[in-house]
Amino acid sequence: MSDFAHPATICQHEGEARKLLGAVVPPIFQNTLFVHEAWENFESAVGFPVGGPYHYSRVSNPTLEVAERKIAALEGTEDARLFSSGMAAISAGIMGNVRAGSHVVCVDSIYGPTRMFLTEYLAKFGVTTTYVVGENPEDFVRASVPETSLWVLESPTSIVFRLQDLAEVSKRARSRGIATLIDNSYSSPIFQQPHRLGIDLVAHTVSKYLGGHSDVVGGVLCGSNERMAPIRKFEYELLGSAMSPFNAWLVNRSMRTLGLRMRAVQESARRVAEWLASRPEVERVFYVGSPGYPQAELRDRQMGGWGGLVTFEPSTNTREWCKSFTESLRLFQLGVSWGGHESLVVPLEYQAMDWPSPRWLIRLYCGLEAGEDHTADLAQGFDAAVSLR
Ligand SMILES: *Cc1c(COP(=O)(O)O)cnc(C)c1O
Repeated sequence: MSDFAHPATICQHEGEARKLLGAVVPPIFQNTLFVHEAWENFESAVGFPVGGPYHYSRVSNPTLEVAERKIAALEGTEDARLFSSGMAAISAGIMGNVRAGSHVVCVDSIYGPTRMFLTEYLAKFGVTTTYVVGENPEDFVRASVPETSLWVLESPTSIVFRLQDLAEVSKRARSRGIATLIDNSYSSPIFQQPHRLGIDLVAHTVSKYLGGHSDVVGGVLCGSNERMAPIRKFEYELLGSAMSPFNAWLVNRSMRTLGLRMRAVQESARRVAEWLASRPEVERVFYVGSPGYPQAELRDRQMGGWGGLVTFEPSTNTREWCKSFTESLRLFQLGVSWGGHESLVVPLEYQAMDWPSPRWLIRLYCGLEAGEDHTADLAQGFDAAVSLR
């Protein structure tokens, strides 16, 4: 599928064989439409083949195809499409696999807006969803009914980082003719390639690691040509979900450093997680890379790394303590999202379906700053919040 075997080389060169006027960086095709001198050329653009000829930028555009080729090669899928947001990619992948009366099984700790889309929005088409913990592959089987057409996964989930066994879940789905879709945003295609383990459709928010600089909102959906063709024709084209060429050009730039950035933030997060575990202010650390991680065997089997996210439960489990702590931080800025250059902190009250009660949690994203500055900032935050203990 790709001319290159190694992810680092894919990130530099995949999709860039044609050098327009010798330009070493693919230019931005900001145009809405493409014109044709020959009738035959105009006719052959109708099927919107990858690599052109092109017709209209709502449907295909050469600037988007550069990043699409790179992401497809990394994920090991035939096709990838850039969407205007992660939610556009995820909702397209879901809508492409349900009809009125369908049933969906989804992991409980899925990204909040995905849950809202399934439960609140799709209800108006008579689509129902059952949520499962998902740590046992049989959870999906037990929750399924004859109308079940789709299983939705997110592994690791993005707050308390729980895994699903992708190979085992996809095997069970295939034997029942049920489609599988995963939100792979946590890992990026550098650290996990779910399609290689049998998952049908792989979605990412591009707003996090893939964009990487907190300046692009976007998404991507990857899969086989057969799975993607109807989604391209209907959800992508008719709902008008394409990314803008300028944003795609920024993503092409970001792809070059994806592996470097993933490894840099992972090193900082590892250091922070280890440091947090030694602090009296911390009750419990949630970190995929920790030696005592409850699903360590599965983690090592299906992931190649764990990125920059660390969550902890503070010993003083109150809103007041979380407020004082997060407001005292200087490097970790109070804000949602993650995956960019800057460190972020999100306090939230959270309850997994198998927890007896909600708990206050602090999710940290370690950015590209120096690792010792991360721990120094957290130390001064703990000192500032100490009066509330
Ligand atoms: C941010 C996020 C999304 C949504 O992406 P947008 O680009 O904001 O639409 C989906 N899944 C996960 C895990 C996310 O963190």
